[in-house]
Amino acid sequence: MTARILIVDSIATNRIVLKVKMIAAQFVVDACATRAEAEDAIAQHHPDLVLLNLSDQDGDRHGFCKMLRNLPASASIAIIAVGVADTAQARFAALDAGADDVLSHPINDTLMMARIRSLLRVRSVGQELVLRDSTSKALGFEEATARFQAAANVAFVSSQIGEPTQWLSAFRKVTSHKTRLLDPDGVLGATDLRPVPDLFILDATKGDLQQNSFLNLISDLRSRSETRLAAQLIVLGPDQAELAAMCLDLGADDVVSATADPKEMKHRANVLIGRKQQHDRLRDTVRSGLHAAITDPLTGLYNRRYAVPHLNRMAAESTKLERPFAIMMIDIDHFKAVNDTYGHAAGDAVLVQLSDRLRENLRAIDFVARMGGEEFLIAMPRTSVRRAKLAADRLRRLVNKAPFNYAEGKSVDVTVSVGVAVSGIPGEDILGREVMCDLADQALYEAKAAGRNQVAMCASAA
Ligand code: GH3
Ligand code: MG
Ligand code: MG
Repeated sequence: MTARILIVDSIATNRIVLKVKMIAAQFVVDACATRAEAEDAIAQHHPDLVLLNLSDQDGDRHGFCKMLRNLPASASIAIIAVGVADTAQARFAALDAGADDVLSHPINDTLMMARIRSLLRVRSVGQELVLRDSTSKALGFEEATARFQAAANVAFVSSQIGEPTQWLSAFRKVTSHKTRLLDPDGVLGATDLRPVPDLFILDATKGDLQQNSFLNLISDLRSRSETRLAAQLIVLGPDQAELAAMCLDLGADDVVSATADPKEMKHRANVLIGRKQQHDRLRDTVRSGLHAAITDPLTGLYNRRYAVPHLNRMAAESTKLERPFAIMMIDIDHFKAVNDTYGHAAGDAVLVQLSDRLRENLRAIDFVARMGGEEFLIAMPRTSVRRAKLAADRLRRLVNKAPFNYAEGKSVDVTVSVGVAVSGIPGEDILGREVMCDLADQALYEAKAAGRNQVAMCASAA
């Protein structure tokens, strides 16, 4: 879906050149010259990403960057610093001020676009986390866990283990995380990598980890259930912009040059670890005992008590940001018959496994709740009609694709019906929570009436 980008640069030609590129890539673009204009644009348009020229003479741009990063309202906006001198010191100063990445002149367009796509993917996680925390607070549950960064497990994957490269030795001296060295052959397809690393640092500078084999490694780690949530930082040789772009598009979280200052590498590693821990928090809140009152004891999903105020917030946020969001109501077909035929315990087992299937097949930012009985609600922020339909179809197939085990060697086939409502379709008002849930309910009713085991879109999204 379209993201909004703000260009802040005091030089008109720079603004125009960047603006043309962003428009060509289908982004919605605002551009301005001064800090005051930028502050206005941010308050008004809530951009997803800011391209900020840090070398501007218009006031203290590093200070501005720091401020954006520290204010809650702008903390989750992605920032790319441009116009930064290609020196270790200037790069580090930009990252230290809170930029997510630094692009020096001449800017490589392929890399810039890949970086933008990659940052936009992670930005939504931060936003959803803020939203969930505020719902918990409103319900009287302060988050008790501290926000400091816990020591993480970092794995270096390098074919140079016998004779560690210079950057690796330098990095190990400056980091406080638990590090270990792994051989690429031992990682590719490995079945047990415990303790599972929070961060993989893949050395693509030398030896066997050339091009194809290490590109395979990126997607291999991304696709395996054990490692798909781990962060990936790729270390590349100098002048590898095209390869860097490819890594980001394949799912690597960040790329850094082997010639970068160890401080830069440490900074990037810490940002990725912090983000990974944030992700983990999003996924785990539902399982932690702290939240017993807002979760369903059988499935561990959020319950209705939490879902209703949270959806109200999500709808308000969507209205503010003018972003579509989708709601799905999922109801198990003929569930009464499952209970009647196989017993209530078998029904419970189906509910638990269904919850797991749903949870594992959604993004961290998607919200899943058990609204009661055999009815589940999924809210997907930033989701267009097309994406919502694809996701609903995928989940429906995921349920009837494989039977559900309810006892040793015994299983039952289950299907679900899904009703989908999407709010924020271009040209339409963003709907509130109640209307959205009613629309999704109506669509669900249509899916049932039309024979079950199918998806129905609400009329305005059909
Ligand atoms: P439809 O396809 O129209 O949705 O039919 P259905 O049988 O699924 O719907 P109905 O509303 O008639 O029945 C829902 C059943 O879900 C009845 C109830 O016993 C069962 N149920 C609700 N909560 C639980 C639970 O926590 N555990 C078990 N095992 N069953 C539950
Ligand atoms: Mg049912
Ligand atoms: Mg029902």
